[in-house]
Amino acid sequence: PQAASSSLLQNLNPEQLAAVTLPPKPALILAGAGSGKTRVLTTRIAWLIQTGQLYPGGVMAVTFTNKAAKEMLTRLGAMLPIPVRGMWIGTFHGLCNRFLRAHWKLAGLPQGFQILDSSDQLSAVKRVIKAMNLDEERYVPKQVTWFIAAQKEEGRRPPDVEVRDEQSRLMVQVYAGYEAQCQREGVVDFAELMLRVYELMRDNASLREHYQRRFRHILVDEFQDTNRLQYAWLKMFAGPETAVFAVGDDDQSIYAFRGAQVGNMAAFEREFHVEQVIKLERNYRSFGNILDAANELISRNQKRLGKNLRTEAGPGEPVRVHESPTDYAEAQWFVDEARQLHREGTPRSDIALLYRSNAQSRVMESALFNAGVPYKVYGGLRFFERAEVKHALSYLRLIENPNDDTSFLRVVNFPARGIGSRTLEQLQDAARASGRSLYQSVGALSGKGGNNLQAFVAKVDAMREATRGLTLREIIVHVLEASGLVDFYKTDKEGRERLENLEELVNAAEAFVTQEGFGKDAVALPIDEHGPGVFGGTAGRAEFNTPGAEAVEDGSSIEPARARPGLFDGAGGRSAPAHQGAGAAVPDGAAAALAATVTPDAETGEIMSPLAAFLTHASLEAGDNQAQAGQDAIQLMTVHSAKGLEFDCVFITGLEEGLFPHENSASDPEGLEEERRLMYVAITRARKRLYLSFSQTRMLHGQTRYNVKSRFFDELPESALRWITPKNQGFGSGYSREYQAAWSRGSGLGSIVGTGREPAPPPKPLVSAKPPAHGLRSGQSVFHTKFGEGVILTLEGAGDDARAQVNFGRHGTKWLALGVAKLTPVE
Ligand code: ATP
Ligand code: MG
Repeated sequence: PQAASSSLLQNLNPEQLAAVTLPPKPALILAGAGSGKTRVLTTRIAWLIQTGQLYPGGVMAVTFTNKAAKEMLTRLGAMLPIPVRGMWIGTFHGLCNRFLRAHWKLAGLPQGFQILDSSDQLSAVKRVIKAMNLDEERYVPKQVTWFIAAQKEEGRRPPDVEVRDEQSRLMVQVYAGYEAQCQREGVVDFAELMLRVYELMRDNASLREHYQRRFRHILVDEFQDTNRLQYAWLKMFAGPETAVFAVGDDDQSIYAFRGAQVGNMAAFEREFHVEQVIKLERNYRSFGNILDAANELISRNQKRLGKNLRTEAGPGEPVRVHESPTDYAEAQWFVDEARQLHREGTPRSDIALLYRSNAQSRVMESALFNAGVPYKVYGGLRFFERAEVKHALSYLRLIENPNDDTSFLRVVNFPARGIGSRTLEQLQDAARASGRSLYQSVGALSGKGGNNLQAFVAKVDAMREATRGLTLREIIVHVLEASGLVDFYKTDKEGRERLENLEELVNAAEAFVTQEGFGKDAVALPIDEHGPGVFGGTAGRAEFNTPGAEAVEDGSSIEPARARPGLFDGAGGRSAPAHQGAGAAVPDGAAAALAATVTPDAETGEIMSPLAAFLTHASLEAGDNQAQAGQDAIQLMTVHSAKGLEFDCVFITGLEEGLFPHENSASDPEGLEEERRLMYVAITRARKRLYLSFSQTRMLHGQTRYNVKSRFFDELPESALRWITPKNQGFGSGYSREYQAAWSRGSGLGSIVGTGREPAPPPKPLVSAKPPAHGLRSGQSVFHTKFGEGVILTLEGAGDDARAQVNFGRHGTKWLALGVAKLTPVE
C-alpha cells in the first residue's frame, strides 16, 4: 500500500500534498479556480482508504452537481481497486434521498415516497390555496412556494414562523396546509429532503450518534455555495471525531441570490476550530493569458478573502475577442469556429458554449441544429422542451388541431381553471367509448366539470377565430395572452425567465418565417369556414403517443411522451416540411379557419400555414436531435452550471451590457460583484483556448436590443486579448448603420432597446414562381399527381400568387400554389 499511495501522491505539489495528507482534523482549503481543489479532495479520499485510515463506508463527500459526483466516482474508481458505488458521494439532495430511503419509517414517510419537482410543488401549493378558499391574487402561488422554501431553509416549521399580521398568519396556514397535504400524499419537495434529514438527526440521538461515528471523514466541495440549512445539516453529521474537509473559493461564490452564504467559510473556520487554512496558488488548468484575464478581472472586486493564482504553463494563445452584427451572425460564427476546431482534432465534448441566461441558447441551438452538429444542453432543458414553451405550443397546436389530445391534456387546466383529475378521467372514458377526441367529447359531460371543460373549448375556439388572418407572430402573441400564460408567469419573479422564454418563442417564429422564406409579410388567408373540408394543417406534425391516464389536478405535469423517432422525414434537415396529407385529416369544421400563406411545398404545391410549418419545426427540434448518450457533442450550458468543469475550448457569448453583467445586477455593487465572480468562473473553465464574443444587436425578450459591449472587456488586460474582428474605438466604422443610428437616438450606457427587427439573414428565395396561365375555374375537376382527382372550390390571387382551394375527397381540401402544383384539368 505504501508504494501505491506514493503513486497516488506523486503528481501533487507540496501544498496539495500537505492538504491531501492532513491529519484527521477539520480543515479548510481556500484556493482559486483550477488549483486542484477537487483533485485534492478526491485524492484525499483515495489516500485515506488506501493507507487503511478509513473504510469506504466511513466517508461522505458532498458535491454540487450530479455531474460532479459522477466524475468524482469515476476518478476514485480509477485510483482505487475497490468498488466505489457504495460510498456516500453525491449532492446534498442525493444524499438526503439516500438517507431517507434507509430511514423512511423514522422520518414518518411512506416507503415509496416521491419527490416533487418545482412545477409539481407549485400545483400542490395551488391546491392548498384553493382548498382554503384564499384569493390567488393575494396569495400568489409562486410567492407562497418561495415563502415555504425560505422557511424550510431557515429550519422553520409553521409554528416557528413569526406572525406579524393577518396576511402572514394566513401564509403560515397555507404552509401548514401544504405540509399536511404532502404528508397525506407521501411526497416531499427539495427543501423538505434537507430539513427532514436535519430534524431526524437533531431529534434522534441514537441515529445521530450512529452516523457521527460512522462518517469519520466528511468532505465538501464548493463550500462557498452552501446555504444555512446545508451548513447546519453538515454540523449534524459531524461528530467530535469527524474530520470535515471543506474546499472552496470565495471568488466563485455565485449562488448568493439563492441564499448561499460565503460567510459559512468564516463560520466553519471558527466553529470547527480549523487550525490551518491551506491555500493553493498554482493553477494547473489554464494557460497564462487566460489566467491573466481571470486574475485581472476578479481583482476589481472589493469583497475578497484574497489569494493569488499563477501558472507555469506559459502564456499560450491570446484570448480571442469576436464581435458580430447580430446574434444570428454570432451563432453562425460559433458553429463555423467549433467545426473548425473539431476538424483540427478537438473532441466536441471539449468545446463548451457558455451563456449567462438560458434564453440565449435558442439561437445557438438552432444554428447547431441546422448545421447538423451534435450538441448537448446541460442544466436546463432544451428550448422547445421547456415547460412554458411546451404549454404555449400546446395552445397553438389546439388551434391547428383541436383533436390533439396530448396538447389538450397538457393545457386543459393550465393555467388552472378548475378542471380536476376526476373530470378528466370521465372525459377520457367518454372519448374512449365513442372513439372520438377529447375535444369532441366535451359535450358528454355535465355538471361543473363539464361546464369548465366547455369554457376551455370555447376559449380555444375563440383564439382560433381571433387569430384568423394574422401573421405567425401575431398569432403567437395573441395566444400567449389569451391563453392566460402571460398573466400566469407575470405574477412572480421566477416567472420572468419563463416569460423571457415565451418571448423567445415569438422570436423563434419570426426567425423561422424569415429563414423558411415565408416572407415576413405573409398574411394568412382566411379560409371559408363553411367549406366542405379542412385545411390539412397537421401535415407533417410529429405524432405523440397518447399519454396514459395519469392526469393530475393541475394538468401541468402531464408530459407528452417523446415523439416517436422515425416519424419525421429526414429528421436531420428541416427544409420543406414533410407532409402526409391524408393521414392528418381533421374532422369537419374543426380547424376551419387556419392561416394560409404563399409558400407551397416544392413537390406538390400544397401550401402549409406558417403556423403548421412552425409547429412541425418545433417538434423536429425538440425531437431526437439532441446528441445520443455517449455521442461526442458540443457542450452548451449556463455559466452557473459550468461550475467545477473544464474544457479545452470555451466560448463565452453574449458579453453585452445588460446581459452579462445582467441588467438586474448591474446597478448595485453587490450584484455587480456577483456578476464578476460569475465571469471569473466562466473564464477559468478554459484550458487552452478562450473566445469572448458579443453582438451589436440581439433579439431578446421580443425586442431588438442594440448593445454596448460588456464592461468586462474594459476590466481585462489588453495584452492578453486579440480581436479577431476589427476592434472598434468608440462607435466607429465597424458598427452597422442600424447600430449607429440607434446609438445617436439613444442615450448613454446600457443597451438601447429598439422595436424593429434586427437585421436577419437574407430570406431564401421563394420556391419558384412561373406566372401561371392556368385558365382554371371554380367547380372544375382537376388531377394532381399526388392527391389524385379533386374539384376546385376557390381561386384566388393572380400571377405568382395564384392559388386554388381544391377538394380532393379522401385527401381532404387543400390550398395549392398554382405556380408549383401541377393541376391538369380533367375531361
Ligand atoms: P475549480 O475551482 O474550477 O473547481 P479546482 O480547484 O477544483 O477548480 P481541479 O478541477 O481539481 O481544480 O483541477 C484543475 C485541473 O488541474 C484538473 O485537470 C486537474 O487534474 C489538474 N491538476 C490539479 N493538480 C494538478 C497537479 N498537481 N498536476 C497536474 N495536474 C493537476
Ligand atoms: Mg473544483
